[in-house]
Amino acid sequence: MSKGTPSKGKHANRKTHVPCRRCGKNAFNIRKGICASCGYGKTTTLRTYSWAKTH
Ligand SMILES: [Zn+2]
Repeated sequence: MSKGTPSKGKHANRKTHVPCRRCGKNAFNIRKGICASCGYGKTTTLRTYSWAKTH
């Protein structure tokens, strides 16, 4: 276990995302107060992009 980038470190301690109230995904950024998935906290409508396929 010595090859590659260590995935565990200081980064693992801090949780940046918690379950979103609106979409339920673990994408709500605590520091920003914005959901990375649906845009909760930033926009009242669902965050959607044409390039982002929902399925
Ligand atoms: Zn969300």
